[in-house]
Amino acid sequence: MYRLTPNLQQTSHQPAEFFVISVQVLPQYANVVVYHHCMFHIKTMAVFCGSNFGFSPLYQKAAQDLGAELVRQNIALVYGGTTKGLMGVIADTVLDLGGQVTGIITQKLYDKGQFHQRLTHHMVSPTMRERKAKMSELSDAFIALPGGFGTFEELLEVATLTQLGEHSKACGVLNILGFYEPLKLLMDKAIEEGFMKPQMRDTVLFEHDPAALLKVLNSWQAPTVDKWIDAPAP
Ligand code: AMP
Repeated sequence: MYRLTPNLQQTSHQPAEFFVISVQVLPQYANVVVYHHCMFHIKTMAVFCGSNFGFSPLYQKAAQDLGAELVRQNIALVYGGTTKGLMGVIADTVLDLGGQVTGIITQKLYDKGQFHQRLTHHMVSPTMRERKAKMSELSDAFIALPGGFGTFEELLEVATLTQLGEHSKACGVLNILGFYEPLKLLMDKAIEEGFMKPQMRDTVLFEHDPAALLKVLNSWQAPTVDKWIDAPAP
């Protein structure tokens, strides 16, 4: 015998279009949460990407294509605020097409003159850590283009926060020229070896087309399991 208490509420992490119907049952049963109206309209996107260009011109093209798709879908860009590499390419594309760009740069990089002068909004933060926190706070979702350590670190940090349930913002990679295939393999290895639950695989979404990536990010739902796996039997 169930006592059903439908409770329509907006979650603190999701925009207005996203509602959760929570259905409470008698204490001997687990609480069930049913997600409803899951189409999530992303308004601001943080993009992590190389401060270098990469050797193939296809990486620059991917940054331009993603920038154009963000503008087409009226999504503002949040990024690291510099003119360097793919970061400069995506910012220039969005600005040239009339879109909005917020750049957040560290004081050190600002002092080195690496700041993009044309941005819609800009912020200078004391440290890289604070900069990442601000980028995350200002964004509804995250995309990584190809890049190096900086990009990997930013991408994996937002995925880690999802796993820990500290936010529920979608994150994905634009998998140009199969750049992120090794990450897929590494995730599979972590699952196979008992370091990650299979339900966590979609914490990072992989697509090679910007419109397809935005579509899956918009309909993504946070994992409903926690990250802990039982210890193996002795
Ligand atoms: P990387 O992939 O190692 O080139 O690092 C790129 C990522 O780290 C970007 O998403 C930025 O947020 C950050 N980053 C690295 N270099 C810079 C820079 N010169 N100016 C601003 N952000 C940078």
